[in-house]
Amino acid sequence: MQKDKQVFDLIDKELERQRNGIELIASENFTSLQVMQAMGTAPTNKYAEGYPGKRYYGGCEVVDEIETLAIERLKKIFRAQWANVQPHSGAQANGAVFLAVMKPGEKILGLDLSMGGHLTHGSPANFSGKTYEAFHYGVTRDGIVDYEQMETVALREKPKMIICGASAYSRDWDYQRIRSIADAIGAVVLADIAHPAGLIASGLLNDPFDHCHIVTSTTHKTLRGPRGGIIMLRHDFENPWGIKDPKGNLRMMSQLLDLAVFPGTQGGPLEHVIAAKAVAFGEILTEDFKAYGQQVIRNAQAMAAAFVSRGYHLISEGTDNHLMLIDLRNKNLTGKKAQETLDKAHITLNKNAVPFDDKSPFVTSGIRVGVPAITTRGMKEKDMETVVALIDRVLMQADDEKTISEVRTEVSAFMQQFPLYPELG
Ligand SMILES: *Cc1c(COP(=O)(O)O)cnc(C)c1O
Repeated sequence: MQKDKQVFDLIDKELERQRNGIELIASENFTSLQVMQAMGTAPTNKYAEGYPGKRYYGGCEVVDEIETLAIERLKKIFRAQWANVQPHSGAQANGAVFLAVMKPGEKILGLDLSMGGHLTHGSPANFSGKTYEAFHYGVTRDGIVDYEQMETVALREKPKMIICGASAYSRDWDYQRIRSIADAIGAVVLADIAHPAGLIASGLLNDPFDHCHIVTSTTHKTLRGPRGGIIMLRHDFENPWGIKDPKGNLRMMSQLLDLAVFPGTQGGPLEHVIAAKAVAFGEILTEDFKAYGQQVIRNAQAMAAAFVSRGYHLISEGTDNHLMLIDLRNKNLTGKKAQETLDKAHITLNKNAVPFDDKSPFVTSGIRVGVPAITTRGMKEKDMETVVALIDRVLMQADDEKTISEVRTEVSAFMQQFPLYPELG
């Protein structure tokens, strides 16, 4: 058959876009070539509803080995007792946890979307906010999670589940404190580590597994794997709600979660993506990945310092992880304007609401900047100064097409120092 030139030309065009730009979207990264290659392989043809050794279809003996390898590697990374590698995305992983833990109409408590939380933590636009009664905590004026508010709302509303984790929060979490709040009301704690998972895997941030009952993550952000989701338990436990199996035994939490992924919320697993997850997990178990995590944090620190030295206002005054949130109001810019202008210079990041934002979510007062992708490209601390200088030049001349086009040329030249998938030609 003839190669579909129309589609493959577009794929090549996207590769060139990635090669020539500075990627600062905090949730993005570049997988290794072998992670990417594993995704375009034969297991995509295979139906494997069920779990290794317990499938609804024949011919699953090889994908059973693939999925088992992925599970075993993931358990090793996080010292987990149980893991499910089938969720198609982070949102799917959270959906399955909700189904396992909650009945429709019950209460959840999560970080407000406008304060850095995620849609799946109870936003009215998402299934989590439509199906369950959602309450929220926020951050203080200093930009730090308001644990006192979390406690007040928790004691008043007695949610069945407290969710911690965020998409736009630059500080570490006090998981022990959250667990003690939950224990006072018998709530389950879900830690959604979609963003910092790679840093947690490398032991560079607090360990949520010590205190949170259930942990979910994406695999494509700081974990640097294919797009996907995962669910993990360090310690399995009998479900506290008295849910029994057909033999009358209390179901373990792991069983409820497996059932909630399949058949609860998904059909056949993407075994080609699970193969790519297994490859990524293998990479995470190496010393190279730990060095990557350390460099991510050093780069984020260097970038934060470079922004502050140019008079930018960082929420919470800095960062513990891989990202920072910048309030642009003192620069007389909106997040929307900044994102659109930087895009023209091939510097990619996203507008983001800042805590207590007075602008709509479509405009926003801030931007979110992350270093995982440029760290994968090979950038070091000194390069953060260069990147911030380029950003600052564009933002300070946001209506000057000449400056924007000059910076675009410089960005492209600068990025030639950091080859991306050179093997692909
Ligand atoms: C990115 C993210 C998710 C969702 O991941 P998708 O793969 O896009 O569905 C869930 N929770 C948090 C906190 C995230 O940042």
